[in-house]
This record gives sequence, structure tokens and C-alpha cells, in this order.
Amino acid sequence: MKEFKCSSMGNKCSWRHIAKTEELLADVVAVHMRDIHGHQSLGSDMVAKIKNSFSNPSPVEAREAEMLELKVYRCDLEKGCSWKYIAQTEELIVDGVAVHAREKHGVKEFSHEMKVKVEKALQPWKG
Ligand SMILES: [Zn+2]
Ligand SMILES: [Zn+2]
Repeated sequence: MKEFKCSSMGNKCSWRHIAKTEELLADVVAVHMRDIHGHQSLGSDMVAKIKNSFSNPSPVEAREAEMLELKVYRCDLEKGCSWKYIAQTEELIVDGVAVHAREKHGVKEFSHEMKVKVEKALQPWKG
């Protein structure tokens, strides 16, 4: 298990995350950096810096993190969109997708049908 604290990158941000592997953690961090801190894509320097800041969580926290199952949604609203969203609950993902659909695909109203479609498309996220 590895832990990332956003504050370790010098951000005034209390977000942190624990994941099973470095790769999995790096993916979730990249999504956070994009959505919250506006980094559209992370260069290899940045990824290396992020990975260097990974630490080992306490045994209690590691066990808690193991219980949480993350889900992933990969955008299929338009061909070629590589956007994805990883979160713990369907509600969080649907909210994130609604914002993305509006900003990137011009979807003004996120209908109930779309919500159901997103929920059906969710997959367990396993690095
Ligand atoms: Zn942050
Ligand atoms: Zn998209």
C-alpha cells in the first residue's frame, strides 16, 4: 500500500489517497491533479516527483483503504475521448461525469437516462 498527500507537492490541499500499488495511486493522483489543480496532463518529471513523494500508510489506514472499492467510468460520450473518472461512490462519479459532459461535450442537461447509462458502465478499478 502506498499513500499520497497532496500537500507534499506544495499544494494547499488536504486531499490524500491510499492505493494498493504505485501505478494505481499515480493514476488516481493524475485524475485529482487534473480535476482539482488544472493539470491537463502530467509530464514524466511531474510523475516522478509525485511517485517520490509516496509514503507508506499506517497499518490501520492501509486496512481501511483495502476495504474501499474504487470504481472507474471511462467516457464514451464521444469517440476518442480518453477522459476517465475514478471514485468510491456512484454519486461522486455521476457528479463528475455531469460536469465533464457539460464542459467537454456540450451536454446542457444530464438526463436520468444518461445517469443510468453511466451507472451501468462503471467498472471496478483495479490497478
Ligand atoms: Zn490537491
Ligand atoms: Zn468525454
